[in-house]
Amino acid sequence: TSPAYDANNIFAKILKGEIPSHRVYEDEHTVAFMDVMPQAPGHTLVLPKSPSRNILDADPSALPHLITTVQKVAVAVQEAFDADGVYIAQFNEPAAGQTVFHLHFHIIPRHEGIALKP
Ligand code: 5GP
Repeated sequence: TSPAYDANNIFAKILKGEIPSHRVYEDEHTVAFMDVMPQAPGHTLVLPKSPSRNILDADPSALPHLITTVQKVAVAVQEAFDADGVYIAQFNEPAAGQTVFHLHFHIIPRHEGIALKP
């Protein structure tokens, strides 16, 4: 089983407005804001407002709307950054590279021949 959700994680504070973020999309259940250390210009994060640590403990009923927001944001960043493609990634637990423990998807516009920053 997953560790418990930490209500003081940095994305929880962003959702509460305690830490500023550059929000580019918001609806009743989901929000998107720019990543503070982008791996490429336009690197955006999509989150559910509901408190899940990652996809392993997420309520399945929240996922259809969340993936629809992922698609909306992917289409928007593709257009806004004139991208050749869009990379979508999502990490679960430290062993898989997760560093912030509120479920989120990375949306990164990609251009032919241009590598991501590490
Ligand atoms: P993870 O490895 O957990 O999937 O990625 C967490 C992401 O959150 C990283 O890409 C990191 O740059 C981003 N991040 C960490 N702290 C902040 C913050 O305070 N604000 C924003 N906008 N992004 C953050």
